[in-house]
This record gives sequence, structure tokens and C-alpha cells, in this order.
Amino acid sequence: MSEENKKLWMEIPAYVFVALARRGMEKISLDQCFLPGCDNQDKNKLKPLKKEEYDEEDRHVKFIHMKCDECGGKFQFKFETIKKVAKPTKKKIKKPSEDKEEEEALSMGLAYALDEEGNNLGHIGYF
Ligand SMILES: [Zn+2]
Repeated sequence: MSEENKKLWMEIPAYVFVALARRGMEKISLDQCFLPGCDNQDKNKLKPLKKEEYDEEDRHVKFIHMKCDECGGKFQFKFETIKKVAKPTKKKIKKPSEDKEEEEALSMGLAYALDEEGNNLGHIGYF
């Protein structure tokens, strides 16, 4: 794996979380091909090609272009990170667990899979 590939893998969250109705959250690895009909789950057969990113008013958007060696296809990850909202100014005593929940809510990210042309293949989960 080249240095450039390694750097791009660092931009990809290892896991995203998918909400299951009444059954909590499921953890899904992004080390897999998201093209329809391909079941490649081998990270060594996936190559990040390039990154594109831009800022919108309330979010940061990042695309990682991927090549799958199993099906020979290309797809893209799209990561949207909602920018942090201002922290509440009112101070109150909280349990550590509540603090943690707030931190997570402040750095909310959404992951999508797109095909080579940018057509949406679906929302993958949250990171
Ligand atoms: Zn594939």
C-alpha cells in the first residue's frame, strides 16, 4: 500500500453506526465494497484513489473515491460532518455519561455510498 493510499485510509472512519429500530445500533465496517452485487469485504482489495472536500455553511463534505479490485468497479464514500453548534452557556451539574452524549451529538457525521457517477447508493450510517 502506498503512502498516499495510507493517508487516504486515515480519512475513512473504520466503522459507522446504523440505527436499528428498537434494537439499538449496529456497527458496520467501511472496509468493504458498496457496489451492488459485490460482496468484497477485504480491505486489501480496496484502494482509495483520491479525496475531494468542500465546506458548506453548516457542514463539511468529503468524498473519497474508491476502487474495488474484486468487481473492478469504482465508488465513492461521502462523509458529511455537521459543524459543531455552540455549546450551551448555561452551566449545570451533569453526570459524565451525559457529557459524553453531548460531545457525540456535537460532532455528528453522516456517511453515504455513491457510485462512480455520483448517484446515491444509499445512506450507510453515522460516525
Ligand atoms: Zn466491488
